[in-house]
Amino acid sequence: MAENLTQKKARALEVIKIFSAEYGDADCTLDYQDPLQLLIATQLAAQCTDARVNLVTPALFEKYKTARDFAEADEAELSALIRSTGFYRNKTKNIIACGKKLVADFDSEVPKTMEELLSLPGVGRKTANLVLGDCFGIPGIVVDTHAGRLARRMGFTKNTDPYKVELDLLKIIPTEQQSMFCHQLVFHGRKYCDARRPQCGECPVRDICPKVDVKL
Ligand code: SF4
Repeated sequence: MAENLTQKKARALEVIKIFSAEYGDADCTLDYQDPLQLLIATQLAAQCTDARVNLVTPALFEKYKTARDFAEADEAELSALIRSTGFYRNKTKNIIACGKKLVADFDSEVPKTMEELLSLPGVGRKTANLVLGDCFGIPGIVVDTHAGRLARRMGFTKNTDPYKVELDLLKIIPTEQQSMFCHQLVFHGRKYCDARRPQCGECPVRDICPKVDVKL
């Protein structure tokens, strides 16, 4: 029989309990010092690993410290610094445009609402939710490919569209745990629930995970 919402919520709480014991100190895996740095680092992380981004950002943030610095950046110089993160031409254009918008419309500060964040070039819901949760303590669900895969395997959503996954998780993950849960999903994906070879036999949530579409 299909699991109803109440049952799903109860199971999600069990998963959160286990995750909190396993990954109590889970955190954003991008290095940053302030909201602007997280905003930029998250844009660089599109189609790239956080580890690679963390290799690039020290020199980048040494050179560009404020929204105005990014707004006035020379395209070729900025490109050269972020080239190894892939799709660097688009990323360069978006980061410069984002800097300009921050200067023009937000007094060079990173805004604190979803709507305002989404108005910035190159910023989608994933980035906005991450910045809101980690920099401003405003809970939200951050859905990237990994979080989406895990949520589907764990039977918390059937959707592949990230926004629909976000809406499904919002219904079952308590508000105050949402940001941490998403970090824990990333840690869990790395440790046990790899895209190609999930280690279900060793996984601490194996008894309450339906393992949807996992070939054992
Ligand atoms: S039991 Fe398997 S599919 Fe479920 S979370 Fe663990 S590793 Fe992933």
